[in-house]
Amino acid sequence: MAMGTWSDEAAWDSLTQTGAYLKGHFLLTTGRHSDQFFLLARLTEHPDMLEPWAKTLAERLASLDVQTVIGPAVGGIIPAFAVARHWPGSRVLFAEKDGDGGMAFKRGFRIEPGERVVLVEDAVTTGSSVAKVIAAVKGAGGEVAGVGAFVDRSHGPLAFEEPLTALLKVGNIPNWNADHCPLCQEGLPLTRPKS
Ligand SMILES: [Zn+2]
Repeated sequence: MAMGTWSDEAAWDSLTQTGAYLKGHFLLTTGRHSDQFFLLARLTEHPDMLEPWAKTLAERLASLDVQTVIGPAVGGIIPAFAVARHWPGSRVLFAEKDGDGGMAFKRGFRIEPGERVVLVEDAVTTGSSVAKVIAAVKGAGGEVAGVGAFVDRSHGPLAFEEPLTALLKVGNIPNWNADHCPLCQEGLPLTRPKS
């Protein structure tokens, strides 16, 4: 993808080239099977390939006029950093699991009362981890101006109410119970891409 320009087609090409978007026969964490899988860490693995995504998302979030970017660990850390690089004077924090089902700021990270922040994720599916980070921000007295993501995989209501800005909207990816999976019926081997 050429620097400084964005097209959905070129974005899809970069996902395919890096192995961040796979077609095959996949076992999902839900136990269901699918013919498509996203591994966005394979995109963030390549800073040069990531840059058009980061620059474009930074442009589309610029009107929020925030100086603090928060990435939910682990997938949001690199995207948040890559977006914040486009905003001089900004800072990047990440929230991580608190060991009790929520998300928390550790490592000495602090949010000031009234501080406006934007959350940046690689992909949003249900929004449950974003919602937990939003709760952590509000718990610290901060204000979430919006959420940015490279890929919006949602197909239903999100777990948060703040506005979502995503570069690609993927929509509903087909998935099946093993009993009804057409790929199983074809005898295609099942894979677990994350392991
Ligand atoms: Zn199957």
